Amino acid sequence: IVHGGVSSNPKAENDKHVKDKSDRATQEQVLDGRTRLVLAGLVNRDIIGPFTHCISTGKEANVYHATASPNRPLSLQQYSEFAVKIYRTSILHFRARQAYMEGEHRFQGEYTSSRNPRKMVRVWAEKELRNLRRLEQGGVRGPKAIELKENVLVMEFLGDGDSASPRLKDAPIEADRLPDLYAELLIAMRKMYQHCRLVHADLSEYNILYHQSHLYIIDVSQSVEHDHPRAFDFMRTDIRNVDDYFRRRSGGEVNTLGFRRTWDF
Ligand code: ADP
Ligand code: MN
Repeated sequence: IVHGGVSSNPKAENDKHVKDKSDRATQEQVLDGRTRLVLAGLVNRDIIGPFTHCISTGKEANVYHATASPNRPLSLQQYSEFAVKIYRTSILHFRARQAYMEGEHRFQGEYTSSRNPRKMVRVWAEKELRNLRRLEQGGVRGPKAIELKENVLVMEFLGDGDSASPRLKDAPIEADRLPDLYAELLIAMRKMYQHCRLVHADLSEYNILYHQSHLYIIDVSQSVEHDHPRAFDFMRTDIRNVDDYFRRRSGGEVNTLGFRRTWDF
């Protein structure tokens, strides 16, 4: 595995210096000892098999591609691989998240009362799991949440073979498909508000995957309840991000106004 975490690297183990160095590196990142235990648990419970590669390293989490265990439960037969999001347990980057958590009646006590970074990260991961489930229930495309254990979230892998589907930002999309995809995204955002009762709060071309010719919404750990005091602020920013992106990408052809011009609604 990347970062010398789950599967051992014999060469590194023979070299004390290298091992110490890689241990320190992993502790500062995501694969601390406790996280490795959690991963071992998921392997022992026949959910995930070996990790194949790292899909993304971010400030708050890393995402890995893992094969599904051949002995996985019947309920998971349809999945041959998973995306595993591992939240960093370092407190460093979590301060910025306070603004999203404050005003969240679902998580109030748990989050604000905790001085323990591991616990705060767990609450954050749980928020992502619950929000992904709400996307699914509300009929909004996104990865299905499979399993959560502490700071490790196992979800449906959106990709083809073992290569992840591109972010909207990097997706090769024909110009003449942009208006449809823009409309699809507006509908998804509306459903997210009306049915899931959530505002994404970090929506942009970076948190949308282009998968099987459709747009999938990801990264919903910071999404807030529709009645969060800043819900409309977050929503306005989401709309502006999406609107700006489509306008830029289409050379000014597609945006809220262009959309109105074309379809006249
Ligand atoms: P971060 O907090 O680091 O932004 P994200 O949830 O946005 O975390 O995931 C980071 C990246 O990992 C995404 O941009 C995407 O490329 C990839 N990714 C996330 N979830 C999946 C998934 N279910 N299937 C495939 N790729 C994914
Ligand atoms: Mn993201």
